[in-house]
Amino acid sequence: MLEYDRISGLIPTGVWIDGRSEPATTTFEVRNPATGELLTEVADGTAADALRALDSACRVQSAWAATAPRERSAILRRAWEILIDRTEEIALLMTLEMGKTLAEARGEVAYGGEFLRWFSEEAVRIGGRYTDSPAGTGRILVTQRPVGPVLAITPWNFPLAMGSRKIGPALAAGCTVIVKPAEDTPLTMLALAQIFAEAGLPEGVLSVIPGSDASAITAPLLADPRLRKVTFTGSTRVGKLLLKQAADTVLRTSMELGGNAPFIVFEDADLEQALAGAMAAKMRNGGEACTAANRIYVHNSIREEFASRLAEKIGALRVGPGHEPGVDTGPLINERQRNSVAALVEDAVAAGAVVRTGGKAIDGPGWFFQPTVLDEVPRTARMHREEIFGPVAAIYGFDSEEDVVAAANDTEYGLAAYFYTRDLDRALRVSSALEAGMVGVNRGVISDPAAPFGGVKQSGLGSEGGSEGIHEYLDTKYVALTR
Ligand code: NAP
Repeated sequence: MLEYDRISGLIPTGVWIDGRSEPATTTFEVRNPATGELLTEVADGTAADALRALDSACRVQSAWAATAPRERSAILRRAWEILIDRTEEIALLMTLEMGKTLAEARGEVAYGGEFLRWFSEEAVRIGGRYTDSPAGTGRILVTQRPVGPVLAITPWNFPLAMGSRKIGPALAAGCTVIVKPAEDTPLTMLALAQIFAEAGLPEGVLSVIPGSDASAITAPLLADPRLRKVTFTGSTRVGKLLLKQAADTVLRTSMELGGNAPFIVFEDADLEQALAGAMAAKMRNGGEACTAANRIYVHNSIREEFASRLAEKIGALRVGPGHEPGVDTGPLINERQRNSVAALVEDAVAAGAVVRTGGKAIDGPGWFFQPTVLDEVPRTARMHREEIFGPVAAIYGFDSEEDVVAAANDTEYGLAAYFYTRDLDRALRVSSALEAGMVGVNRGVISDPAAPFGGVKQSGLGSEGGSEGIHEYLDTKYVALTR
């Protein structure tokens, strides 16, 4: 029996509109990237489905915006409770459709679920402002109103959290939401829609339209003036396309885009801590994370020791299907992604990088790549500029703080950055100099639902999580009153 058969009863496979799964007319396949096995077929959403979802969203938008914040809060809280009760099933589902290990998938249920709990708490704290005008001629009332129907487009690497990080604040703010999940991983988002229905979310407030042709679903929505916001997590390339389309109807936008995170180990770092941090920042999610340490800069006085110890740790990782016991790291999401990682490694090696461990794709079935450490990577290699998005640690040497900060900032991206030092002055100086939306100081994991997650430069616009996250779904309204 396929592992998937154990949980298939909990997962709708039609387009999700008006609080139910509709029988599919045409479908596309969802396969396990670790084995190539067919998990199931999912409804192939169309432009007509997308527009029907928008009709539903518009029909209930005012009523949803008018619900008591306490009621929206209670629904989010119930959805969080059901999700956590179903941790094992949802974790297995994510492992099967995306490839991450069960331990990481359980971690994602906890992390992704936390956005529902956090925003259930934020729903009742949407503030406003009231003041006399300085001239004494009037009063100023400032309120926050839900933006309106939202389109959320999500990637495959965190099939739950990248959706819940948008759905949680949008629902808390009083917005209706249509989600277009990634083609490779539509099932987790459909399972979440089912959970929201069980939690009492009114029909039409949340729709999920999976599909094999993303723009066929999203373009008609973006062109429709009834849609009021697009929130996207994915590549910078697609983010730019969406921004251009959003211009036509002057849509509110939130963009969580690509990264090229520097991870700097200064000569005074605690080496044990830095190694543990590098393992987390590089190998979390098999390296398929926008916050992944893409460029590991190590001071030349400690580089040899750091590189050999990191190679020992990474070389010892057990690779295999994520649901099998004892596996540390799973496959890449698909053949294209594995070939892209292989091409970046070949390019770096041709440019002079030294392979400390790994370096090659692993024969199938499944899209595996050996956990890899490359040392002495020249800064001219493509992987210095491009996201690796795989289990490949690239180490670069440096001699001075000035040089490494300049190198770290020499990228169009600005999502996450990490560095290790025991010098407080340096910690403050470098965290201020790094051009990134998020900086980890002596930490390899920075994501926290209570903190604002977001990038600068071409890594994006806006923040998700924290008390900032809900404001992405609220418009400011000023009411002028006489005295
Ligand atoms: P992607 O190719 O940009 O796809 C992301 C989503 O956009 C998917 O749902 C995809 O649908 C859809 N899409 C693709 N082309 C589209 C188009 N022309 N119009 C409308 N939608 C379109 O990115 P990915 O490969 O899934 O994810 C990896 C990228 O996401 C990396 O660059 C990573 O850094 C970034 N990311 C950023 C964050 C962050 O918070 N900043 C978090 C996670 C990932 P299909 O699947 O059907 O193509």
